Amino acid sequence: MRILLVGPPGVGKGTQAALLQQRHGALHISSGEIFRTEMKAETELGKLAKSYMERGELVPDEVTIRMMATRLDTPEVREKGFILDGFPRTVAQAQALDEWFGQKGVALDAVIALEAGDDEVVRRLSGRLTCRQCGAIYHRDNHPPQVPGVCDACGGELYVRKDDREETIRERLRVYHETTKPVIGYYEQQGIVRRIEALEVESTYAKIKAALGL
Ligand code: AMP
Repeated sequence: MRILLVGPPGVGKGTQAALLQQRHGALHISSGEIFRTEMKAETELGKLAKSYMERGELVPDEVTIRMMATRLDTPEVREKGFILDGFPRTVAQAQALDEWFGQKGVALDAVIALEAGDDEVVRRLSGRLTCRQCGAIYHRDNHPPQVPGVCDACGGELYVRKDDREETIRERLRVYHETTKPVIGYYEQQGIVRRIEALEVESTYAKIKAALGL
C-alpha cells in the first residue's frame, strides 16, 4: 500500500492512518509527528520547526522535503509501503515527491482526500488530546481515553498541542485553504484522487477501504 492522506487539520488523517497501519501493515508516516519528535529531542531541525509550528505556519519546503526523503528512503518503507499523513502540503512538495518517486521507481496507489467543513474541524481540534509518548489521538467528547489524561495504548500523558488552541487553529485552516488545497488539484490531474466525506471514525474507515479496494 502506497497512499497519501490529505485534508484540513483535524479531519482525521492521523486517526485513519493509524487504523490503516494497524489493520494493513503499511507504515504510518506523519510529517507533523516527525517534527514533534525532533522538537522534543531539541535537535536543530526541531528548534527550527518549532517556531513555525507554534504559529500554525508551514515549515519551509526545502527542510520538509529533505526530512521526508530521508524518512522514506529505508528498506522497511520499501518492504511495507506507507500511508503519508500531512505530507505533501504544498504543490512544490508534491512535485518534489513525484520526482523522488520517479527516481526510485515508486508509484502511488491513491490519494485519499478527506473532507469536512471548517466549523466541524475547529470543533474537533479544540477538543483534541495527543499522547506525548506515542502520538495517539483522542477527543475530550467523541473519543475520550479510558482514564482521563492517560493514553490507552501506552500509558503516556495526554496533552493539548500548542497549535490546537483556537487562534492557531484558524491560522492553520487559512494556510490549508490557500496552500494545501491546491495539492488535491495537482493529484486530480493524475486521476488518482478519491474524495471522502470524513464524518465518524469507523464509517470513514469503511469508505477508505472501499475506495482502495481492500
Ligand atoms: P500536523 O501534525 O500534520 O497537523 O502538523 C503540525 C505542524 O507541523 C503543521 O502545522 C506545520 O507547522 C508542520 N508541518 C507538518 N507537515 C508539514 C509539511 N508537509 N510541510 C510544512 N510544514 C509541516
